[in-house]
Amino acid sequence: MRLKVLGAYGASDAEHNLTGYLIDDWFAVDAGTLTSKLSFAQQSRIQAVFITHPHADHIRDLPHLIHNRFAQSTGPLTIFAAREVMELLARDVFNGCVWPDFSDIIAPATGKPAVQYRSLTPGKRIVYNDIGITAVGVDHQIPAAGVLLEINGQSIVFTGDTGPTHEIWKRTNKMQNVVAVVTEASFPNDQQPLADETAHLTPHTFGEELKKITVDAPVYASHRKIPYERDIESQIRNLRDRRARVLLEKNYTL
Ligand SMILES: [Zn+2]
Ligand SMILES: [Zn+2]
Repeated sequence: MRLKVLGAYGASDAEHNLTGYLIDDWFAVDAGTLTSKLSFAQQSRIQAVFITHPHADHIRDLPHLIHNRFAQSTGPLTIFAAREVMELLARDVFNGCVWPDFSDIIAPATGKPAVQYRSLTPGKRIVYNDIGITAVGVDHQIPAAGVLLEINGQSIVFTGDTGPTHEIWKRTNKMQNVVAVVTEASFPNDQQPLADETAHLTPHTFGEELKKITVDAPVYASHRKIPYERDIESQIRNLRDRRARVLLEKNYTL
């Protein structure tokens, strides 16, 4: 599979982008960075987006992606999220105040709404366009779920933002042919109390999570906070686990 990393940071400036991933050009995970790095034509090829949680750095571009879809002649965009996450998106974002609820508005180009929502029950696998999708709850400040994706015989795991967690690793360890795990390391080790308080990982706790993962696949640290990126990167390297990698904003072939 092809993984396009549009954003690998937990903050943004001119050279760093918020969390956003695109698989095989049509399935996105998180929407911090999608419209800002994709052409109108590339956006039209996105068929679905899985949202891990409603923090602004993971949804910034989602209203704009939906708005652009409204003007495009491709079919509706499907938004996947765990049920509790979807409830927060409906209540706090697509509420007619922050942004319209485009699932209720017919797009002139297609005669259908530009978006449809699909709430997922955590732990329950569904099949969509021949890929397996399983949302699995993680441990963050607010309701949040990562996702296990099975695509053409390969599996990939995204935790989204999380502190130390368990269930998603138990599931990961049972998956076949895992080609990558994308998790986070937001703060450097000297900010462990802040990471714990805000339910994030440091390279130290990233290393503890690695011990829970038994699959032999690269485990990427994403969501680094910009001022500490150098420290975080060297601390990830110092873990001395050959699976531990820093996620870069580039295209990966897995
Ligand atoms: Zn975040
Ligand atoms: Zn978050």
